[in-house]
Amino acid sequence: ASSLPSTGRHFLQIPGPTNVPDPVLRALAAPTIDHRGPAFAELARRVVTRLGPVFGTTGPIALYPSSGTGAWEAALVNTLSPGDRVLCFETGHFAVLWQELAERLGLDVELVPGDWRHGADPATLAARLAHDPQHRIKAVCVVHNETSTGVTSPVPLLRRALDEAAHPALFLVDTVSSLGSTDYRHDEWGVDVTVAGSQKGLMLPPGLGFNALGPRALEAHRTARLPRAYWDWDPLLDTAEHGRFPYTPATNLLYGLDVALDLLAAEGLPQVFARHARHAAATRAAVRGWGLTVLCADPRAHSSTLTAVLMPDGQDADALRATVLDRYDMSLGNGLGRLAGRVFRIGHLGQLSDLHLAGALAGVQMGLAAHGFPADPAGLTAALDVMSAA
Ligand code: PLP
Repeated sequence: ASSLPSTGRHFLQIPGPTNVPDPVLRALAAPTIDHRGPAFAELARRVVTRLGPVFGTTGPIALYPSSGTGAWEAALVNTLSPGDRVLCFETGHFAVLWQELAERLGLDVELVPGDWRHGADPATLAARLAHDPQHRIKAVCVVHNETSTGVTSPVPLLRRALDEAAHPALFLVDTVSSLGSTDYRHDEWGVDVTVAGSQKGLMLPPGLGFNALGPRALEAHRTARLPRAYWDWDPLLDTAEHGRFPYTPATNLLYGLDVALDLLAAEGLPQVFARHARHAAATRAAVRGWGLTVLCADPRAHSSTLTAVLMPDGQDADALRATVLDRYDMSLGNGLGRLAGRVFRIGHLGQLSDLHLAGALAGVQMGLAAHGFPADPAGLTAALDVMSAA
């Protein structure tokens, strides 16, 4: 909380959880109903069915009362066996956390090193697969949109590398900070398990985790031997048909999800994706205009949902964030892992209008000035130009 009295709404510009739209907040406040009753079954069937187009799948979606980390674990324990080799790409902090979780589950994880400024490279994957003629690698794990760096990985090209090598490894993709904000096609891109959460593009509070399941993942599930109980997909596979959960579901979050899906449908998914891309371009224009550096070093890999900004040597990004929170009641994302203190992150995902983003960028610009960094005011103007040209 700010030390100044707030005279308006807090600006939650971390890259998730995101600002929750008012209609979603109102839906969350409805009385909780019997989760074994007919009204709940209808709600559960409806939300799980309507999630399909957001994931780009016609297959089953397992929905957990969990954070994204739980959905990571679910993807692994349902498809793999103790000691299985898993290939991970070190794209940033979340890729490393997923790798560490896999190790704790007893998997044999190989990490492809990365510089946290580029996405997973299809040529590197192809080269690694070429050295695995015995198919010891059982799964490839990739974070679609690295929330710690603002760098994306090219999911269709990574799939192509697997196909061209005729390698049977499962393809597991984390879309926690891209789903519902950027184009994503679970079926068409040949992803076996897609991992997601509620608190970013889906505009909900934290508390729901998702696995979208492809046919090869369901086949692997039959013989996978990692211990699984709470995370087992089995009792969740027919939610779309019967609307049943094996335990108490997060009923009120499902009310919110129903309304969030209405909002996405009313705007249209292609329009939602175009808005995110436009806001990302405007944010990058501002950052460069201020004389700062966008962390993502590959122009093909810029995230549509957040921008990580590298501060010049000797400037403390956390001190800047503290100034922005204190003076303008806006939360910016911190630098994670090895980026701590060196970057700040601007979240531009979920419910966001041009004017809201303009306000957020104005807050960063004023914060930079207050913090003693001579940010060129041309930064904000450049962002406004990008938004008004579109
Ligand atoms: N994966 C990505 C890309 C994330 O951004 C996050 C959280 O921010 C997670 C996984 C972990 O999700 P959670 O914090 O909901 O457990």
